[in-house]
Amino acid sequence: MMRRLVALAVCAALLPVHAQGLPDLGDSSDAVLSDKQERTIGNRVMREVRIDPAFIDDPEISDYVKSLGNRLLGAAEAPRRPIEFFVVQDDAVNAFALIGGHIGLHTGLLLLTRNESELAGVVAHEISHILQRHQSRLYQGQGKYQLASLAALALAVLASRGSSSQSSQVTEAAIVGASAIMMQGQLDYTREHEREADRVGVSILERAGYDPRGMVSFFERMQRANRLNEFKSAPSYLRTHPLTVERIADMQSRVEAMAPKLVPDSFEYRLARAKIRAATGSSTEAIAYFRDQLADRTVLRPREDVYGLVIALRRARDFAAAEKELSTIRTGEGAGPAFEWLAAQLQADQGRTDSAVETYRAALKAHPRHRGLVYGLALLLLDAGRTAEAIAWLEERVRLSPDDAKLYELQSRAYTAAGNRLAQHRALAEAYYLRGNLAAAVDQLELATQVRGSDFYALSSAEARLRELRSRLEVEREAEKALKLS
Ligand SMILES: [Zn+2]
Repeated sequence: MMRRLVALAVCAALLPVHAQGLPDLGDSSDAVLSDKQERTIGNRVMREVRIDPAFIDDPEISDYVKSLGNRLLGAAEAPRRPIEFFVVQDDAVNAFALIGGHIGLHTGLLLLTRNESELAGVVAHEISHILQRHQSRLYQGQGKYQLASLAALALAVLASRGSSSQSSQVTEAAIVGASAIMMQGQLDYTREHEREADRVGVSILERAGYDPRGMVSFFERMQRANRLNEFKSAPSYLRTHPLTVERIADMQSRVEAMAPKLVPDSFEYRLARAKIRAATGSSTEAIAYFRDQLADRTVLRPREDVYGLVIALRRARDFAAAEKELSTIRTGEGAGPAFEWLAAQLQADQGRTDSAVETYRAALKAHPRHRGLVYGLALLLLDAGRTAEAIAWLEERVRLSPDDAKLYELQSRAYTAAGNRLAQHRALAEAYYLRGNLAAAVDQLELATQVRGSDFYALSSAEARLRELRSRLEVEREAEKALKLS
């Protein structure tokens, strides 16, 4: 997954063939690709990323990373650009910025950080690469021949995803080719890019209220671990972001000039890490890890470790033990929606549907915006065959969050169960649309308008939406064609 993403990202960055003057590194306004072109490439790549099984759509983890990223972005100097943050299930230590404003973090990176300021430091560094438009300049100095072959590689990777075995061999070849090119160091960020991302990153970090020393300590530790061969293989992060002794010394002197700051980790950071840890390796390993963490903590047991243990026990289907542990953290300071979500899931696991619905309803009163609770209740009602309730609940939520793709996906399931085929395809179309897949959205709307005996108003509304999305798809296809992406 990671290699494929890097291949896509790097190739996509190298596609333009129309540029005339090469930009000066110091001037971010004079970039090679226009904003719109970057977005077109970024959206194309993200369409592939979102359907990859390694893409994490857990609402707690993804909402946490989004809020961390947006807090940092809010501290950046203007002009800012919207950036989407996401997490990829991958043990390899890596973080990467895709062209068009997308930043991906591997779970392996999140686990390697020792505090939130370290994580924020890596994210601030990636944000800086995007704000300084480094990717669209990466092609500086590339000859036309290389550009053409890289464009071909990107196309091969994009075209052959997830189909026949023959085409997956093509994908493999493309990945190997792209990696080989990256190995030569041509496509990595340059030292100047790194210096700039460090400088901008540290100032973002400080202004956002994190400890700027976090950035230095994380990079230092990564370099040390790499020197001592502590990683299974050298993290590609170190290859794409060349880390030198000078870079670390530069960061250190910059940070030393700032007032030291002790910033406690947020509860959300601790919970997200525990959740990722609990899902890593086998359930037995995860249980052992958290039991070990809690072994000599009989009085003050960190809630995140108990939480991680409960998730690991649930993975092992030891529901009774999981509930017993969870009951120790559901009340008092620090109790919250994450624990209630887990409690409701455990009740549902054991067939106690009514209690689970009650737990969801009570928790949603206090935390109406928690997406885990919102989806959890819908899923439970669907699984229990309580279709009418599920439909009512989802309609209420769609009115509140009309941009939430997951809600439409659940809605489509509910309408399917109710036998309402027009509404089923219509809802799925909206889910695809919000995930940037216009072609699939149009397909669904075509199916919706073909359902016989439909309500007149529902049908004309679906037809109007179909016309609208068809014309958007046309515009998108033109833009992709111009960039040789389709
Ligand atoms: Zn970098």
